[in-house]
Amino acid sequence: MKKYFFAALLLLSCLMLSLSTFAQNVGRDRDARLNEIADSLHKVMFSIDTHVDSASHLNHPDAKGYTVTKGQVTFPKMKAGGLDACFFAIYKGQGPLDDASSQKAVDFAFNEIKLFKEYMAKHSDECGQAWCADDFWKLKKEGKSIVMLTLENGYVLGKDINNLRKFYNEGCRAMTLTHNYNNDLCDGSRDSVEHWRGLSPFGKAVVDTMNVLGMIVDVSHVTTASLLDAVACSKAPCVATHSGVWNIKNHPRNLKDEEIKAIAAKGGLIQIGSGRFFLSWRPKTEVSVKDYVDHVEYVRDLVGIEYVGIGTDFDGGGGMNGLEDCSQMKNITVEMLRRGWSHNDIKLFWGENLLRVMRVVEAKGRELSGAAALR
Ligand SMILES: [Zn+2]
Repeated sequence: MKKYFFAALLLLSCLMLSLSTFAQNVGRDRDARLNEIADSLHKVMFSIDTHVDSASHLNHPDAKGYTVTKGQVTFPKMKAGGLDACFFAIYKGQGPLDDASSQKAVDFAFNEIKLFKEYMAKHSDECGQAWCADDFWKLKKEGKSIVMLTLENGYVLGKDINNLRKFYNEGCRAMTLTHNYNNDLCDGSRDSVEHWRGLSPFGKAVVDTMNVLGMIVDVSHVTTASLLDAVACSKAPCVATHSGVWNIKNHPRNLKDEEIKAIAAKGGLIQIGSGRFFLSWRPKTEVSVKDYVDHVEYVRDLVGIEYVGIGTDFDGGGGMNGLEDCSQMKNITVEMLRRGWSHNDIKLFWGENLLRVMRVVEAKGRELSGAAALR
């Protein structure tokens, strides 16, 4: 009897081991299949990351003081990750608002653009600059990684609104109105006081001029009052190029439901950032792509898939487990496929939404300026 008992036990153990191996194999096969689907999707769809701070790092790779830069975006890494385009922000942290300091910020930004264009010229076989939405597909067909220049912090305008057109002429097609702190345009979400409680008169004039030029008004980093005012004043859709969801993590950089709804109601976009600190309360080492997609799905469920996309903030604090740099972008697509996302929704998220908004912003600029051509 004992003999039969041990035989049965052995048989049961073998069966359980086989089942476990079978389940592991099924899991591996499924992951491999999802990776293949993600690969094929990234070949045919358009993918745009609407905020990276990598120009600073690429301009000054040996510089000390760029504590958050890690070289997360390079043209070869974009290729490896199936990422077609990035909005490369020319970033200037907030400084004093006196005339001399403001002018220094202007000069700094123009010099950073000059340096980054020199970098691009050295890598002209790998990249190309997009000046409008139509350039994106053209450059993708040529196999080039696509650069769109943007500005992070309206401080770089100094006191002179004419600088806006000069930046536009360099190819800048979006501008974050401020960074973390109050400036001459509006209030920043990390400042201890609210000075303007909306847009300043200069900020209103800047938004008006951006509409005429066909530049995207970027409302990441600003306070709720400034965001709602900017969205209300703008005649074109606004984009939060790198923000998260307040209701998932109560952080002043994240967007409350009323902000998300206001942006979407005007046809704009909430591009979810990947900074782990903004995504979850859990320890940094535990934050993963799953948390990222939770933020995306929150916006999708609140206002619709047409109003959400991606702006990683790489080299500015972005990145997490499974998304350490832009060579791992497909992991987001894999997670979406795992959750049952349709291919169409994945395409909207990765780039179709952004291209739609760019075209609307450009068309509004043509309408307001009466100009027949953008360039
Ligand atoms: Zn930022």
